[in-house]
Amino acid sequence: MSILKVARMGHPVLRAKARPLSASDIRSPRIQQLIDDMFETMREYQGIGLAAPQVHASVRLFVAGLAPKSAGEAVDDEDADDRQSVPLMALINPEITPVGREAVEDWEGCLSIPDIRGRVPRAREIVVRAYDRTGKRIEMRVSGFTARVIQHETDHLDGILFFDRMMSFESLTFLDEFGRFWSHREVVEE
Ligand code: ZN
Repeated sequence: MSILKVARMGHPVLRAKARPLSASDIRSPRIQQLIDDMFETMREYQGIGLAAPQVHASVRLFVAGLAPKSAGEAVDDEDADDRQSVPLMALINPEITPVGREAVEDWEGCLSIPDIRGRVPRAREIVVRAYDRTGKRIEMRVSGFTARVIQHETDHLDGILFFDRMMSFESLTFLDEFGRFWSHREVVEE
C-alpha cells in the first residue's frame, strides 16, 4: 500500500467529470490497489472521505469512514453523536436521490482545500445506489453526517467542490480562526 499525493484546488482533475467503472474495471488489480491506497491516504491525512479525482484518478469511486470514538472521549455538542461514526465504505458509480426536501447547513472541510472551513447546505437524508468493491450492487438510506459525507464525495466525481454549494461565502474561515471562534469540536476533512 502507499500514500498518494492529494490534488489541491486549482488542479484541473478536480474540475473534470470522472468516468464510470465497469464491472471488470472494479475487479481489476489496478482499481483494487487504488481503493487500498485511498483508504491508507485518507487515514494518513485524517480525512473522513476521499474521492478518486483527489488522488489524480478521474474515475467514479470514493472511500469514506470514521471509526467510532472510544466511550471515554468527551462529547460536548449535540451533533457529536452523529459525527462519531461513519461506516467504512468504498462506493463506485454512486447515484444519490434525496429523501424529502429538507436541507441542513453545517461545516465542511476538504483535503483538496487545506485549512479552510465553510458552511454548506446538504440534503438531510438520501438514498445512495452504488457498487461496492466486489462489484455488488448496494443501496443505503442514510441521514445526517454520513449523508453529508457521501454528498461531498459524490460531488467530487462531477468536478464540484464544496465552495460551489455554499449559499454565501460569509462563513468561510481559516482553520486557526475556526478553532478560535467557531468550534470547540474536532472537524474533519473530506
Ligand atoms: Zn473534498
